Amino acid sequence: MNSLAERIAGQIRAAGPLSVADYMAMCLFDPEDGYYTNREPFGAAGDFVTAPEVSQMFGELVAVWLCEAWRAAGCPPEATVAEVGPGRGTLMKDMARTLRRIAPDLCAGADFALVEASPRLAAVQRATLAGAGPDFTWHDTLDSLPDAPLFIVGNEIFDALPLRQFVKRDGRWLERAIGLGDNGGFIFGIGTATLAADALPPGAASKPDGTVFEIAPVREAMMAMIGARIARRGGAGIFFDYGHLAPGFGDTFQAVRRHRGADVFGDPGQADLTSHVDFAALARVAQAHGLQAEMSTQAEFLLGMGLLERAGRLGQAADETAREKIASEVERLAGPDQMGDLFKVLAVLPTGVDAPPLPGAS
Ligand code: SAH
Repeated sequence: MNSLAERIAGQIRAAGPLSVADYMAMCLFDPEDGYYTNREPFGAAGDFVTAPEVSQMFGELVAVWLCEAWRAAGCPPEATVAEVGPGRGTLMKDMARTLRRIAPDLCAGADFALVEASPRLAAVQRATLAGAGPDFTWHDTLDSLPDAPLFIVGNEIFDALPLRQFVKRDGRWLERAIGLGDNGGFIFGIGTATLAADALPPGAASKPDGTVFEIAPVREAMMAMIGARIARRGGAGIFFDYGHLAPGFGDTFQAVRRHRGADVFGDPGQADLTSHVDFAALARVAQAHGLQAEMSTQAEFLLGMGLLERAGRLGQAADETAREKIASEVERLAGPDQMGDLFKVLAVLPTGVDAPPLPGAS
C-alpha cells in the first residue's frame, strides 16, 4: 500500500466506510499525495489527452463562441473571461490569442481569470501563459472572481469533481461505501444513506437489485455558483465533458492511468478517478437559477462552429505532413468513434439573451 492508501485505510478503521465521494476527493486532492497535487496527468506521457491538448482549434472555436456571447450581452466593457479547471493552461492560451485578434474591444476592458484548485497546476498555467498577452489572475475558487459579467469555459472539470453512488438493494437505494476487506484491501460495500424516490429518474422501480445510480452534489454546487453569478451579473458559460444528456443508471466510476482503464483501488493518488457527467442534472441547476441551458455533442458544436473551415485555413499554409496532422486532429476532436459523440457540451445564458446558438442543440 502506498502512503495515501495507508491513510485512507486508517480513516476507514477509525471512522467506518467512506463514501465514493470522500474516497475520490482524497485520491484526487489530498494536499500531500493527491493525483492533481502531484502528478502530471496530461499528454502522451501522462494519463489522458484533453481536447485543447489535441489541437489549438478547440480553444479557437470556444473563443469565437464566448465572443459571440459577449456581443449578444451588449458588449459589457468590464467582463471577466474565465476558465475553471485549466489543466496546463493551453485552452486559455489559445482563447486569449484568438480573442485578441477577433475582439480587441473585449480584451481592452476584460479581466482574464483562471480558477484552479491545484497550486502545482496553477504554476504550470503561469508558465504556459507567460507572455501570452493579457494579464491573468488566479483564483482558488469561483468566489473570488471579479463582480462583473462572467464569460466562463470549463473543459473536463465536472468529471474531476466527486460523485456519490447508490445501489439498489431489496427495493431501496443505499449509498455505496468503501471499506476494508479481509486481506486489508479496499472493497465496495453498502452504507446506510438512502436516496429519496424523487431524486431518481423514471424507471427506477423496475431496475433489478444491484443497479447503480450516481449523483454528484459537488458538481451541481459548482454549477449553482456559476449559474447564480451569471443570473445576477450576466455572461455565459460553456462546459465540455464526457457524459450523457439524459439521466441514466449504471456504474461509470473509473480510474484512468497511462491512457487505459485501471483499478479504482489500485494505487490511490497515482491514477485519475472520474465518472460520466450527468449533463441533464447540471442543466436543471442552471435553469433553477433562471438561465437557459442548451446541450449538444462536441462534434456538433465544433463542426457547427466551423471546425472544417478552420482546419482548411490552417492547412493552406501547411505542408503535407502538417495537413495530415490537422486532419487527424479534426478526427480526434469530432469523430463519432473518438471524442465527438462521447463528449457533450452544455451552454448556459441568461434568459432573453438571444444568441449565440449552440450548434446541434435541439
Ligand atoms: N481543462 C483542462 C484540464 C482538465 S483536468 C484540459 O482540458 O486540459 C481538471 C482540472 O480541474 C485540473 O486543472 C484540476 O486541478 C482542476 N480542478 C479540479 N477540481 C477543481 C476545483 N474544485 N476548482 C478548480 N479547479 C479544479
